[in-house]
Amino acid sequence: MRWDVVIVGGGPAGLSCALTLASAQGRGWEWVDGRRFLVVDEGESDLKKALLNNAPGVPLGTKGAELLEQLRRQVKALSEAVEIKQGKVVKVEGSRGSFKVYEEDGTLHEAEVVVLATGFQKFELECPDCKVKENPKSPKPGRVMVEHDGDYRVKDGLFVAGLLAGVSSMFATAAGSGVQVAVNILSEWAGKPVVVHDVPEKT
Ligand SMILES: Cc1cc2nc3c(=O)[nH]c(=O)nc-3n(C[C@H](O)[C@H](O)[C@H](O)COP(=O)(O)OP(=O)(O)OC[C@H]3O[C@@H](n4cnc5c(N)ncnc54)[C@H](O)[C@@H]3O)c2cc1C
Repeated sequence: MRWDVVIVGGGPAGLSCALTLASAQGRGWEWVDGRRFLVVDEGESDLKKALLNNAPGVPLGTKGAELLEQLRRQVKALSEAVEIKQGKVVKVEGSRGSFKVYEEDGTLHEAEVVVLATGFQKFELECPDCKVKENPKSPKPGRVMVEHDGDYRVKDGLFVAGLLAGVSSMFATAAGSGVQVAVNILSEWAGKPVVVHDVPEKT
């Protein structure tokens, strides 16, 4: 199946990216309306191990697993343009407009844009364009990141977000980088800098 964006990894970074992409629809922006987004996730987010007392805006003592489920519900409630599916991606190849994303079971997804958000524990998928290196922000050795241009681009149409992009391992930094990647993608489609803001109705 063909998608506008395939996001590999459904932790805070991948889900926040999907949320921001979908939130841009329904505003009369023809360059994003009708587009479809896929999140493929193996389901092993680091957030599942966390208990959160320092995530901005999140109630003290929230379990990471609950926060992750809340994020998934938020994405689904906001938009039908996002599909979240369980799966393990084993290969990403191609270029903008014609990326191919292969799952372990042979399922093939085609995409205009791909976002890699698979965390920093390992990077086992085949990606000819990805230069993997030691993650310098990790307090523990052996964690990985994929090199990018400083604004999350590995190459045209291929982005990296979250811990795999080399941000520090905190919920807010991972989620924030996913949002930044979404805004970068939206801005490319719009041909100008974009943000997605909602305001309360005047009473
Ligand atoms: C024990 C512990 C406690 C923590 N406590 C806190 C805290 O108190 N405060 C705080 O702010 N942060 C905390 N964190 C950090 C926070 O959980 C991480 O920074 C955050 O989860 C990183 O988000 P991410 O989306 O980059 O990666 P992840 O959350 O790791 O998500 C990556 C996702 O990609 C999936 N994936 C990987 N490979 C593939 C593949 N090939 N195909 C498909 N899917 C794939 C994984 O299964 C996973 O679901 C804690 C982390 C741990 C481990």
